[in-house]
Amino acid sequence: MPDPVEFRVGLKKKKRGVTAVTTQAHELDVVDVSKAFVGTRALLPTSLSVKTGEFVTILGPSGCGKSTLLRIITGITEPSGGRVLLRGKDITHLPPERRDVAIVFQSYALFPHMSVADNILFGLKMKRVPKEERKRRFAQVVAICGLENLVTRSPRQLSGGQQQRVALARALVVQPALLLLDEPLSNLDAKLRETLREELMALHRRTGSTTLYVTHDQSEAMSMSDRIIVMKDGQVVESGAPRSLYMRPRQRFTALFFGHTNIVPVKVDGSQARLPWGGSVALVEKSSGCGEISLRPECLTLAADATGPGVITAATFMGADVHYTVRIGDRLLRARHGSTAPFAEGTRVSVTVDTPVSLLAAELPGLTGATTEAQ
Ligand code: ATP
Repeated sequence: MPDPVEFRVGLKKKKRGVTAVTTQAHELDVVDVSKAFVGTRALLPTSLSVKTGEFVTILGPSGCGKSTLLRIITGITEPSGGRVLLRGKDITHLPPERRDVAIVFQSYALFPHMSVADNILFGLKMKRVPKEERKRRFAQVVAICGLENLVTRSPRQLSGGQQQRVALARALVVQPALLLLDEPLSNLDAKLRETLREELMALHRRTGSTTLYVTHDQSEAMSMSDRIIVMKDGQVVESGAPRSLYMRPRQRFTALFFGHTNIVPVKVDGSQARLPWGGSVALVEKSSGCGEISLRPECLTLAADATGPGVITAATFMGADVHYTVRIGDRLLRARHGSTAPFAEGTRVSVTVDTPVSLLAAELPGLTGATTEAQ
C-alpha cells in the first residue's frame, strides 16, 4: 500500500521531520482575471483563492465561463487581463508545462495509442523524473486509483469509469500543486457518476490534493466541496460552504440554482423577518426595512390547524417525502415533509419556519434571468 501521507500534495516539512498540510496558505490566487473572445466577454474581472488542501468547486450554468477560467489557470488560454498566482508566484505568462498544475478534462484526453501504464508515466518522463522515483510514484497512483489489473490495456479497452480513473492517475502522478477537474463525471451514467463521486472524495482525502473542480451539477458540488464558488455570465455570484449557500444564499440566482425554493418578501426588524402570512423567521444578521428571503421547501413546518392561513392544494407522494403546494391568499408555497403522516389535499395548515435565514442582497449588475418560483 502506498503511504497516503507521503503522497499528499502540497506538503510542508516540519522541523522534526513530521509532515503536515498547511491549511492557511493560498495555493492559488486568481486576481482580476478576465477574458474576451471576438464578440464574447467570457470572463469579467474575476478573483478567487483556493487554500492548500481545499476542495473548491466552481458551479454555474453552461457558458458562464467555468472552463475558460480553468484553461487560464492551466495556461492553455491567455487571459485578457489579471494575474494568476500559484503559491504566491506569478504564473500568468508561464507555458502550461512549466506550471505545477494538472488538469483532467471531461473527455479524459488519454493518448489512444499508449497503454494505461504509458499514459500514466508520460508526464513523469516529460519532467525527466529519475527512473526509480517514476516506479515508486507509478505504484502509488495505480494502487490509489485501483488500476492494478488494467495497466497493460489500451484506453480503447476500458470503460468510461476506468478511463476516468486513468486520467486522474495521470494527473495525480506528477504531484501537482493544484489539481483541476473540468466536469470529469459528465460523460458517465447516473449510477457510475455517484460511485466515482465517492471515489473522488476518498481519493481527495488520501492525497490531500488542492483541487479546483468544475461542474454545472449542484448536487455534485454540494456533496463534494469544502467550498463552492457560484458563477453566472462570466462573473462570481457568491461563494461559501455548501450548506450555507443552500440554506442561506445571499443572491437570488444562487437560491434558485440550488433547487426548489420559495422567494418570500419580508419586513425586517432587527434580527427578525416578519413573514407575509404572520409569524416571523430569525435572521443570521440584523437589518431593517423590506427585503426577500429564500425558504427551502423542507424548512417550512406544516401543522394541521383549522384557523391556519394555508390550505394544501396539492400533495404528491415521492416515497420518503410528500411534496406539497400550500396556498396562502394568492401566494403558492412549496413544502416537503416526511411521508409517514401525510396531509390530505384541502387540509388547512399553519406554516412556520425554524431555520435562521439571510436576507437576499440586491442583484449583481448583469445577473438577470433568475425566475421567481413562488409568488
Ligand atoms: P460549459 O459548462 O457548457 O462547458 P462553461 O461555463 O465552461 O460552459 P466556457 O466554455 O468557459 O463556459 O465559455 C464561456 C463563454 O465563452 C461562452 O459564451 C463560450 O461560447 C465563449 N467561448 C469559449 N471559448 C471560446 C472561443 N475559443 N472563442 C469564442 N468564444 C468562446
